[in-house]
Amino acid sequence: MTADIIPHTSPDAHQPCWQEQLAVAIRDPAELLKRLNIDPTQLDSSDVAQQAWSIRAPLPYVQRMRKGDINDPLLRQVLPLGAEMLSVAGFSHDPLGEEDANPVAGVVHKYHGRALLIISPACAIHCRYCFRRHFPYEDNTLGKGEWQTALDYLANDKSISEVIYSGGDPLAANDNFLLWITEKIAAIPHIKRLRIHTRLPLVIPSRINKSCIHWLTATRLKIIMVWHINHPNEIDLSVEETALSLKRHGIELLNQAVLLKHVNDSTQILAQLSEKLFEIGILPYYIHRLDQVAGAAHYDIDDEKILQLQQELLALLPGYLVPRFVYEQAGAHSKSALSLPPTNTL
Ligand code: SF4
Repeated sequence: MTADIIPHTSPDAHQPCWQEQLAVAIRDPAELLKRLNIDPTQLDSSDVAQQAWSIRAPLPYVQRMRKGDINDPLLRQVLPLGAEMLSVAGFSHDPLGEEDANPVAGVVHKYHGRALLIISPACAIHCRYCFRRHFPYEDNTLGKGEWQTALDYLANDKSISEVIYSGGDPLAANDNFLLWITEKIAAIPHIKRLRIHTRLPLVIPSRINKSCIHWLTATRLKIIMVWHINHPNEIDLSVEETALSLKRHGIELLNQAVLLKHVNDSTQILAQLSEKLFEIGILPYYIHRLDQVAGAAHYDIDDEKILQLQQELLALLPGYLVPRFVYEQAGAHSKSALSLPPTNTL
């Protein structure tokens, strides 16, 4: 495949565009279980959890789940469970203290040199462990005419050299808007890099279409796209084609995963994930300890087990395939390394 061929946009076969895929994403847990031939009584799927935060699972992602398997690691990331409604000590609505790092609407500024923009409050998939599942998006969702204060904030702080598009999922915004705001940011001389944190190219690979590639490659900014892939089963041929296409267009690709109980808490799974990521041009960069967000305690893994996984991975893989094991703390000036001694910072 040549560099200018972008998958999923073939005029020969009708493929639903990403907006169509979003529109028909599964919003009903019973429908999801039915599609997977799973008896709902086998799992503690919860109406209460669904009402608190609805399921959203796009079909290209659901098609990668194993039929009839209640333990499928992709299913476990999206199905609302009764355990989400338990109140667990230490798990809060704002585990990273982002509400204290929100200087103007649309901007989260925690670390030196980098500022994060809430580009879109929407996501293509609702990951049940998401640390922003309670984020006050209503105070941070800006219309196109409301971005000037955020842009002024970036322009006035010359220490900021990198802008991070986040959300929600920034690629849930449309390409006209993304082209517009990227041009505005590129016009600020001290900003050098644009980092995009997204799960959309994974869950709906057709999101990376010609108009997306256009704004990604039209800018002077160096683009880094950070994927969020937790399990090797999430990667199929369409994901592989998409990643390789982005790579050929000069986009740096990194991955950050989250350690999740009953999803990827196994050395073999993590080793397979690293191998597969590298095959498709994505560097396994970070693996995060779960952020302690209310509703996600059932995914938590203790630090002893995490360090064991890290040591086993180091013994199994070359160093460049072992992601950095990290965690975030409210008020800290960087991520912290989960290693001995535990206070090392990256
Ligand atoms: S922000 Fe990321 S992790 Fe959270 S629900 Fe959206 S896609 Fe999932």
